[in-house]
Amino acid sequence: MFRRQFLAGALSLAVLLPNIALGQAAASATSSAPEGAIEKIRDEGLNRSKVMQTLSYMTDVIGPRLTGSPGMRRANEWTRDKMKEWGMQNAQIEAWGAFGRGWSLRKFSAAVTEPNYSTLIAFPKAWSPSTKGAVTAEVVYLDAASNDDLAKYRGQLAGKIVLVGGERPLKPIEQPLMKRLDEAALTKLANAPIPGPNDGLGPPPAAFKQITEYFNQQARRMKFLQDEGAAVMLDSSAQGSGGTLFVQGASVGVEMAELKSFDDLFESPAFQPQNKKYQANMLPQVTVASEDYNRLIRMIKNGVKPKMTVEVDAQYHDEDPTQYNTIAEIPGTDPALKDEIVMLGAHLDSWHSSTGATDNGAGSAAVMEAARIILASGLKPRRTIRVALWSGEEQGLYGSRFYVRKHFGDMKDGKLVKGPEYDKLSGYFNLDNGTGKIRGVYLQGNANIKPLFESWLSPFGDAGAKTLTLQNTGGTDHLPFDAIGLPGFQFIQDPAEYDTRTHHSNQDNFDRIQPEDMKQASTILAAFVYQAAMMDGKLPRKTLIP
Ligand SMILES: [Zn+2]
Repeated sequence: MFRRQFLAGALSLAVLLPNIALGQAAASATSSAPEGAIEKIRDEGLNRSKVMQTLSYMTDVIGPRLTGSPGMRRANEWTRDKMKEWGMQNAQIEAWGAFGRGWSLRKFSAAVTEPNYSTLIAFPKAWSPSTKGAVTAEVVYLDAASNDDLAKYRGQLAGKIVLVGGERPLKPIEQPLMKRLDEAALTKLANAPIPGPNDGLGPPPAAFKQITEYFNQQARRMKFLQDEGAAVMLDSSAQGSGGTLFVQGASVGVEMAELKSFDDLFESPAFQPQNKKYQANMLPQVTVASEDYNRLIRMIKNGVKPKMTVEVDAQYHDEDPTQYNTIAEIPGTDPALKDEIVMLGAHLDSWHSSTGATDNGAGSAAVMEAARIILASGLKPRRTIRVALWSGEEQGLYGSRFYVRKHFGDMKDGKLVKGPEYDKLSGYFNLDNGTGKIRGVYLQGNANIKPLFESWLSPFGDAGAKTLTLQNTGGTDHLPFDAIGLPGFQFIQDPAEYDTRTHHSNQDNFDRIQPEDMKQASTILAAFVYQAAMMDGKLPRKTLIP
């Protein structure tokens, strides 16, 4: 799932098309699966699951999958080959376009060397340049909230390791890190009203100025450090404690024009550390776990001049500027419907400081497993089922946005321009909220589809999945589909430890994955996709929202 600092994971793509009327009647509330088919899916998915093996290889062996990195490429190729091995057709990696430079880490170390030696928990930001070998230097605290404050440090930072931002107060953790949705939370979702045009999909335009200023303040600070010749920038993890740190992309030190739409953010320097044209002002930059960071600040406040040795040895990859999604299909078998498509997908890319297990190895493995379950159950879907594993999600839903534009269509000047497969797609199902099991579906305001999904969920009430909400959810790859009026859905999932421990952290690893939840999610995903592939008609689309 996509999120950048306080932006709380959301896109405004869907605002382009909140009121589209496609005039299809609601489907009758029946299961389209032949008798016994859902039982077969349950049996295969719950009793002979391979989802944990798939996820272990993806995370433990392939590792982090930062878009543009060799790990991403290996993941694209391995998932393609694995789905082919399972008997899927047309398995391929499909280019979606140019992304920018790849980046990977060859070596990193950081330690406090004076007044006494201590290691610390830290990780370079993605696309950080390398230090010039191992740098040993005094650590200074840049206590600057404004441009005027910055000016006070002129001439003092050359060759120094600079801490930006103050001590982050840490409180005891009184709530469990692991959370499931309780009845009250599910009831609230079930009773949510139909969303307004932009509800839940991104910050309101009134916030654009503040967002712009937030990123530009960071850019000015980075430019100042670069101009002053600082050696390394360190900041504190913005959340987490106990050795868990959260780290994303580097700051480039280039200001952006004031945002006109939330989508502009993806093209702005603040979101493009991978873009060579913005990299001139970058410094080596590292995020430090808050306990270790706070100690450094307190040492300095005590009048000590700590020293550190930091080495970042990173490699940029310019061999292939293009990036790819992995695509594979189970061909449809009904001569009249096999050209139509039901899609399921998840983003395969991750951030870089752990192995991207919950974000979003979990969703990727579950999507692959859902297809495997359908194949292994010997079922013959009428429509073609197409799996997509996206890349570039974390930097702005690039893989899915460009795929949707090429295959299904785009909004131009407020009007829909259909792509070659627009009328062939029944719907798209996405999984990207971590390891937590499925509790229901966000309907994205599509009330027409409620009776149908109610009947599809009914065999899974015992597994905890029974809630349908009209509410929108944002921040992931169903949005480009929704934005052009195609049914695109993200499931409601238990939060598990997603926001408290794993989402973009150095602890997003296989150990945080819940096997029973993964089996449940893969099985429900398989049932939904299969049902959609067996219907006489396509999934009902949204009607006009008054
Ligand atoms: Zn994410």
